[in-house]
Amino acid sequence: MTQDIVIIGGGVAAFNAIKAIREIDKISNIHLVHNEPVYPYYRTRLTKSLFEDLDADRISLQRKEWYEQNNITVYLGKEAVSIDVKNNTVILNDGGRLEYSKLLLANGASNFKPNIEGIDKENVYTIRKFKDIQAIKSKSEDQKTILHIGGGIQNLEAAWAFCCHDKEVIIVEFMDRLMPRQLDDRASEILLNAVKSYNIKVLLSTEVIAIKGDEKVSAVIAKNRDSSEDSEGRQTIPCDMVIYSVGIRPNIKICENTDIQINMGVIVDEHMHTNIENVYAAGDIAEYCGRVGGLWTIAIEQGKTSGYNIVGKDVSYTGILPVTTINAFDLNIFSVGTITADSDTLSLVDDPDDGKSYKRIFIKDNIIIGAIVIGETKYNNILKKFVTDKINISEIYSKEITVNGLLEKLKSI
Ligand SMILES: Cc1cc2nc3c(=O)[nH]c(=O)nc-3n(C[C@H](O)[C@H](O)[C@H](O)COP(=O)(O)OP(=O)(O)OC[C@H]3O[C@@H](n4cnc5c(N)ncnc54)[C@H](O)[C@@H]3O)c2cc1C
Repeated sequence: MTQDIVIIGGGVAAFNAIKAIREIDKISNIHLVHNEPVYPYYRTRLTKSLFEDLDADRISLQRKEWYEQNNITVYLGKEAVSIDVKNNTVILNDGGRLEYSKLLLANGASNFKPNIEGIDKENVYTIRKFKDIQAIKSKSEDQKTILHIGGGIQNLEAAWAFCCHDKEVIIVEFMDRLMPRQLDDRASEILLNAVKSYNIKVLLSTEVIAIKGDEKVSAVIAKNRDSSEDSEGRQTIPCDMVIYSVGIRPNIKICENTDIQINMGVIVDEHMHTNIENVYAAGDIAEYCGRVGGLWTIAIEQGKTSGYNIVGKDVSYTGILPVTTINAFDLNIFSVGTITADSDTLSLVDDPDDGKSYKRIFIKDNIIIGAIVIGETKYNNILKKFVTDKINISEIYSKEITVNGLLEKLKSI
């Protein structure tokens, strides 16, 4: 039976849903409503390749012709503004109406805008969309000092790009170390030292409480979180541009006046099915088992799962292991799985103290549950496989084994 499938949002979740649908169903009508003026693209490239010549075609997931060949009706630069789940209709910002038999919410998330005095001043940016980097690039040529609020992966990548572009860079991080969710204390320290070695100033345990300047940014006021007195630990840091990256919020506003169940995101089951019979959600908009994914690989898998289920193929999403890689400051950093040790966890460490390499492997009940590797990248895939597949290593593990010995032996299993 021919269906009318409407997809809201044109990110990687939507793209993978379309691929899954077309694998099975070549004839149903697919309408893709995307509020950016460009075809779905590698969003992760925005920070990784900030100052490269990023035109929309170069980073697109597929060219315009692919959508034509697959008979997808694409509404670029059009926003879905409301959903009528009783009448199976999506309303667009230009007044257009699209009727659907199945609806996929793939409208992603937005970067969280912190409630800081002055956050709306000129030269304050965040990086989420293609237009953000176009604005930042055109403005930053004349700016000397760029201050980043948040020391997470995306801001670290952006900071690295600005540093390579001869800007003075400052990073202000609320927590007491960089990437605390992905790295242990020692790996964070190696990263911090590498960042500082490029003359980047890093303020840890510090909160930006105001952004100053007449219209345009001229400084931020930051406060050290360890200072007990309110007036203590405050400093004024001159800067010309501020980039914030302090988490994401799923774009659930469009569901607020509907019967679609929402919490942090749109609540879905393992089929990416919402509580409404013909409505699905996937990617950063979706909340599965109480969590919003917020990662590229999760959006791919959920998009695929939603696409298959939309056309009747029973496929379940069972979760994707979070993997972090960052290549910046002359370091390759990889982290996978659980990177904290309780009393039942063994951890093998190789720390040559050269400031560039470090390995730690976490083992519990003869299973590798997590790993951190700085430096060599050749073990990343094998470690990811062992953690994901929970492969038992009892036949190669011995008390005397070193990290490097174990890594070599993993290849033999
Ligand atoms: C700069 C950056 C770097 C990143 N780096 C990494 C990384 O290294 N590794 C990693 O795993 N993850 C990374 N991520 C996260 C990853 O990109 C996201 O998890 C992923 O893109 C989510 O895909 P999605 O399709 O769910 O949503 P999105 O990519 O957010 O796409 C949703 C699209 O829907 C559009 N939209 C929203 N509302 C509407 C509406 N009402 N009507 C029409 N269109 C709408 C949005 O504008 C957007 O284009 C990064 C994210 C950013 C921003």
